[in-house]
Amino acid sequence: MEDLIIGSHVSYNNTEGLVGSVKEALSYNSNTFMFYTGAPQNTIRSSIDMELTHLAHKAMEESGIDIKNVIVHAPYIINLANNKDEEKLEFSINFLKQELKRTEMLGINKVVLHPGSHVGLGSDAGIKNIINALNIVLEEKEGPIICLETMAGKGTEVGTTFEEIKEIIDGIKNQNRIMVCLDTCHINDAGYDLSDFDKVLEEFDAVIGLEKLGCIHINDSKNAVGAHKDRHENLGFGEIGFDKLIKVIYHDKLKGIPKILETPYISMEEGGKDRTYPPYKQEIEMIRVKKFNPNLANDVRNYFK
Ligand code: FE
Ligand code: FE
Ligand code: ZN
Repeated sequence: MEDLIIGSHVSYNNTEGLVGSVKEALSYNSNTFMFYTGAPQNTIRSSIDMELTHLAHKAMEESGIDIKNVIVHAPYIINLANNKDEEKLEFSINFLKQELKRTEMLGINKVVLHPGSHVGLGSDAGIKNIINALNIVLEEKEGPIICLETMAGKGTEVGTTFEEIKEIIDGIKNQNRIMVCLDTCHINDAGYDLSDFDKVLEEFDAVIGLEKLGCIHINDSKNAVGAHKDRHENLGFGEIGFDKLIKVIYHDKLKGIPKILETPYISMEEGGKDRTYPPYKQEIEMIRVKKFNPNLANDVRNYFK
């Protein structure tokens, strides 16, 4: 098995289904990928084409992408933390249940979820609401695992500290279906200093347990440690910096855990219009050779020209 499991966010569309996502991932020289099964900001979803799904599974087998490393990201408008609007909460719960079914149909085992925002109720109430909702969503013994994402602490986000994440995990009945997604931009913004990543990882292990780490999002951050902002930056161009991110990516204790880039697209003017292009092929190249590329933006533009 390859030690480095690296990929990026890719698109998923209805015409090509999972086949399109696999193709995109391979074009970046990835050996895994993450996608939303529809638009991230809404819950409109169409049915899954099983023929395309089987074709995609074949393509993955042939190209060395192990499907157990592939990740679905739940739409970020799902909010399990706020129960002020009961109808809305119920909608979130039902939608997430369906999303897990879709994920299962695709043969994928991990779904990343933002814990939610308490919107003024306070973290304790938010955590309680999340636990109650997740126990409904995860009531069946078997099925895809939900990876709770560590959040930056923007607004009233819950899950900004390892302790909050641990509290949620402890409340979940089916322990085999709950894990964590560590996001480097988010933990930086939440106040964890990646200058001493060993210490951060030790803390994660002490509070949550490394065996619960199911996925890692690799992003630089536009902001300083503790800024509570959540604005991703391309690798090496932000406040975390390339060397610290490389240390995370190649850390001995994190071998075999899927690592996913969610860095911003590069903009390019085309016929008077501003279009954006994915930087992932070039960023993954930087990662593989462990060398920062200061000309990333230009290389991306030239590649897509
Ligand atoms: Fe996320
Ligand atoms: Fe993330
Ligand atoms: Zn983010």
